[in-house]
Amino acid sequence: MPYTAKTMEYLKRTSPAQTEFYQAAEEVLMSLRPLLDKDPRYKNHNIIERIVEPERQILFRVTWIDDQGQIQVNKGFRIEFNSCLGPYKGGLRFHPSVNAGIIKFLGFEQIFKNSLTGLPIGGGKGGSDFDPKGKSDGEIMRFCQSFMTELYRHIGPTIDVPAGDIGVGGREIGYLFGQYKRLTGRYEGVLTGKGLNWGGSLVRTEATGYGAVYFAQNMLEARGETLEGKVCTVSGSGNVAIYTIEKLYQLGAKPVTVSDSRGMVYDKHGINLETLKEVKEVQKTSLEAYIKEHPSAEYTPVSDYPKGRNAVWTIPCYAAFPSATQNELNAADAKELLKNGCVCISEGANMPSTPEAVDLFLEAKIAYGPGKAANAGGVATSQLEMSQNAGMESWDFETVDNKLKGIMEGIFLNSSETAKEFGDPTNLVLGANIAGFRKVANAMIDQGAV
Ligand code: NDP
Repeated sequence: MPYTAKTMEYLKRTSPAQTEFYQAAEEVLMSLRPLLDKDPRYKNHNIIERIVEPERQILFRVTWIDDQGQIQVNKGFRIEFNSCLGPYKGGLRFHPSVNAGIIKFLGFEQIFKNSLTGLPIGGGKGGSDFDPKGKSDGEIMRFCQSFMTELYRHIGPTIDVPAGDIGVGGREIGYLFGQYKRLTGRYEGVLTGKGLNWGGSLVRTEATGYGAVYFAQNMLEARGETLEGKVCTVSGSGNVAIYTIEKLYQLGAKPVTVSDSRGMVYDKHGINLETLKEVKEVQKTSLEAYIKEHPSAEYTPVSDYPKGRNAVWTIPCYAAFPSATQNELNAADAKELLKNGCVCISEGANMPSTPEAVDLFLEAKIAYGPGKAANAGGVATSQLEMSQNAGMESWDFETVDNKLKGIMEGIFLNSSETAKEFGDPTNLVLGANIAGFRKVANAMIDQGAV
């Protein structure tokens, strides 16, 4: 049985019902074939068998009291996947869809993403099936405190340094940090995405979105193209989407869509960033509120999306930035994007395109930046926050932004040169997977059978 099929069979047998994890693992394994054929060391050291198995998986109960005085229970997860390049690093996701398979897929992707940044960070991910929607500030705080009451014993600035992800932003990181400090008595860089007046880094909030746009810019420049004056579509309306839009405007592009779990907005004049921030960062409400301020924009609720489709991808664009969640762009969406002339996809979200959609982008040879390369700016800037914390320093906005820009360019060059080395120059999936894997695998060989 070929190597990939054998590993996939093993994963399905030993880790049942983890669909998203199989999807992420299969994509990486398929890309690695030419490398494994070329260099026998990886097979000799059983790297594949070891790298698909997390070093440690922590599952715990999170008990908290709601505003009615009722005891509520959620599941907590932290998966410490691979630490051979540095302390585990990766976000926490609070969303009702969270389960072990989703956290494992995210943790697996994080290993290679973190490797691609060139920075000393291993891969991990965590979260909970807690749904922050409709909860009061007090409930969010009590949940975060309870979550940290278990998590604190497994993390530390040189052990495991969580950050935010879906449902975990500055407010949640604040409550988590406060509880860590109360429990340990230590003021240290154990979380990233902290507030600017208590250890956070400038640009961390903006980093994933800005980074995804820098990555698109790198891909397009290599083809003699630019984003200036181009219509772009963006999905999501959270942290990644908002700062993707901000950077697109700075580069002279016109972002015309946003979406959330309830619907999407198409504003042909360009999304109004001020209103978007007010609706999503301040009011934390549905995008329907955007239309009240901008009646000429169109709102489509999810119930009116074409069957089996995401309406965002029906809007013609030059470049698309999927920035909401996994598998939000399928083959039918990809076909329509290509038919409408889209030449660039830069993934702000993790694994937003289904495998069939990715195949269509690769076949069409458009500028396609897979999430583990295109959205690595967030974790890279988290590592810059760790560096500043360790050195008791804080760098100015321009310094951090320039470092982010340099890191995104480095990821693009590393991925595209590796793609060239393996004979498929436009295939950044191949390039990013091999480049990310090779660095981790070589370190695993150096560090022996641990
Ligand atoms: P946020 O929680 O800030 O925003 C998520 C956005 O996506 C919201 O608009 C949300 O809608 C929407 N969304 C979430 N789940 C679904 C769903 N199932 N269907 C439709 N819409 C959905 O998260 P982030 O912006 O931080 O994260 C977005 C993506 O980017 C994720 O894939 C994340 O893993 C990835 N990412 C994030 C990084 C970061 O630094 N934050 C770093 C690298 C990747 P609603 O408001 O209705 O819930």
